[in-house]
Amino acid sequence: MSYSDHPRSQAADARGEGVRVRFAPSPTGFLHVGGARTALFNWLFARNQRGTFILRIEDTDLERNRPELVEGILDGLRWLGLDWDEGPFYQSQRLPGYAAAAEKLLSKGAAYLCHCPPEKYAGGDSADEAGTAKSEIKRIVRCSCRDAKPSTADQNPAVRFRVPLGTTTRFDDAVFGPREIHNDEMEDFVLLRSARSASGGTALPTYQLGAVVDDIDMRITHVIRGADHISNTPKQILLYRALDAVPPVFAHVPLILGPDRTRLSKRHGATSVSSYRDEGFLPEAFRNFLALLGWSSGDDTEMFRTSDLIQRFSLSGVSRTNAVFDRAKLEWFNQQYLQKLPLEELLPAIQAELEKAGLWRPEWGASQREWFARTVDLLRPRTRLLSDFSHWARAFFTDDFDYDLAAREKFWKDERLPDLLTRLTDELAALPDWTHDACDRALRQLAEKAGVKAALLINATRVALVGQPVAPPLFDTMLVLGKERVVGRLRRALPAISARSAAG
Ligand code: GLU
Repeated sequence: MSYSDHPRSQAADARGEGVRVRFAPSPTGFLHVGGARTALFNWLFARNQRGTFILRIEDTDLERNRPELVEGILDGLRWLGLDWDEGPFYQSQRLPGYAAAAEKLLSKGAAYLCHCPPEKYAGGDSADEAGTAKSEIKRIVRCSCRDAKPSTADQNPAVRFRVPLGTTTRFDDAVFGPREIHNDEMEDFVLLRSARSASGGTALPTYQLGAVVDDIDMRITHVIRGADHISNTPKQILLYRALDAVPPVFAHVPLILGPDRTRLSKRHGATSVSSYRDEGFLPEAFRNFLALLGWSSGDDTEMFRTSDLIQRFSLSGVSRTNAVFDRAKLEWFNQQYLQKLPLEELLPAIQAELEKAGLWRPEWGASQREWFARTVDLLRPRTRLLSDFSHWARAFFTDDFDYDLAAREKFWKDERLPDLLTRLTDELAALPDWTHDACDRALRQLAEKAGVKAALLINATRVALVGQPVAPPLFDTMLVLGKERVVGRLRRALPAISARSAAG
């Protein structure tokens, strides 16, 4: 069955709605790489299908919930450019709907009140990897409450789902293919936690109930989420049916592993999306990198502008094989984008970086825009992160910069330099035209006259002008800095060069 033939897709089509997907983070941690990748796949699928992307905050686990993290999750999504069409909806504000669904299930006998302590038959929110089907049925021990024989007289019973026994539940995952589980292996998972655990008295839904009630209510056609949720799917399918709803298409996306092939976690370094923003990654490069963690277009192409990703994304391109997070690859993507983006698209990001570093001057966005564009273009082949513009390339934007210690040691030690650079400074100051070739000629002629290699002067001058051992070609650098700055910086560096060369 193709996914557009799926009854739920058809039902949505009949309403003229098309695809509706959701990203449903729980604010129990930051927006991490795995969550961002799930959000991206949902967003790409929605945009590809001209569907609707919904944001839902699953915040009903009072013990693990950290409301202060929600804003950070939203910020991370905004930075990634994953704009949502509906929401954010907060499950904590939708409690009556879950209670009503539980009531409906109780009244039709699809659920029962369980008086046991919550830990006794726990496991309702289990999540594991997409494993292989087991051959032997491991029958679950069920509590006597199922047969209306309360184990205790608890005043605040939980509501458990009555798993229909003696049959199997099947579904056809859009990525992992046909799956089947014997219901006898499924526990009677909790739907509503005991009211006693809730602060306001309204019973809180478990993830299973909250997700299904909302997915029905929000008319979700495709559930795209991490493969760690595949074991929840049969339970949720039973819930859909018990609530008289058609289950959506399920597409479980492979896990993301660290370089050591264990599940990506803090152990592997930064996993929160905002840390990549702060480090100076471009959102589009990050999207490109994330998209390839578990999806491929079918050919060897790696560079996909976001518009290409939207055009080419499909669930059939999602792989079952776990993806490996490779930081070097992410940096490679960033470098590619810094080098290849149309300059006009890159400038706002550089402006933002310079603003953040307190280096931005308004004239670069107005009368000196051409200069700013030329300077960025000169620098970008040597940059890896946006922050390189405010650190490594700082001297291009301010006179307030330091000389790199190692560069100073290495390139200012020749004892002839103070004299030679004094002469060079005078020659440059006297140039009638400030052009690349005029600067080039002045330096080379001086080197020739003095019988030294041009490289001696070039390297020493570079450190004096920009403080770094590696920078764009010197005469291009001189051109963007302008005569006044070049002469001024050389004069300013002379005492330090004298001190260094005297030290030998
Ligand atoms: N709140 C769940 C999570 O963050 C959502 C799972 C789902 O998409 O159904 O893992």
